Amino acid sequence: MLKIGITGGIGSGKTTVCRLFEIMGVPVYYSDEVSKELLRSDAEVKAFVINAFGDTIIDQHGAVDRKKLAAIVFNNKFELDKLNAILHPAVALHFVNWLTKQTSDYILKETAILFESGAYKNLDQVIAVVAPLELKISRSIKRDGVSKDAILARIQNQLNDEEKIKRSSFVIYNDEAQLLMPQVLMIHQQLVNK
Ligand code: ATP
Repeated sequence: MLKIGITGGIGSGKTTVCRLFEIMGVPVYYSDEVSKELLRSDAEVKAFVINAFGDTIIDQHGAVDRKKLAAIVFNNKFELDKLNAILHPAVALHFVNWLTKQTSDYILKETAILFESGAYKNLDQVIAVVAPLELKISRSIKRDGVSKDAILARIQNQLNDEEKIKRSSFVIYNDEAQLLMPQVLMIHQQLVNK
């Protein structure tokens, strides 16, 4: 079974593209969602996070306050590395377990920071979803209600599209000029015929 990574910057539309692959019957592993879920419900992950960042990271309901955590790690490589050292191995283990249950020709693993985190090394090929900067910004503002500056700051922390394209086997242009489904179908056909 081929393991295909799918990545793209904030607002590029990678989740939207993944939903199209799911319609084609392709199982998709949403790494960022799993990571959030583990933070919410995995007692061991929670304990490690509290140990690393202190009790103040816990809200009044006993859950990890993700906003507080995000504020600590944002633009702070030391703290981010600390968090990733807890989350990445936990997600990797969860992914291996998930893989054993899949029976399709190939699966997709969606990760925003696929190249930045090194996750691409354990995958056979990568699909990059790219979109023009202005579209990425307007989509993110519309969906998350955050400021343009906040989005630009996040974009600056991610690998640029040009580099993602260079390092990927396939590219999907989500620029609202080219239709998504034909691009998805073309890649799907190549991957099921491998
Ligand atoms: P993030 O990393 O920020 O979670 P993402 O790359 O997963 O983003 P999506 O969540 O798929 O991106 O898309 C961001 C927003 O833009 C969503 O609200 C989605 O519905 C919208 N969107 C994405 N692609 C298109 C498109 N081709 N046409 C219209 N809206 C789109």
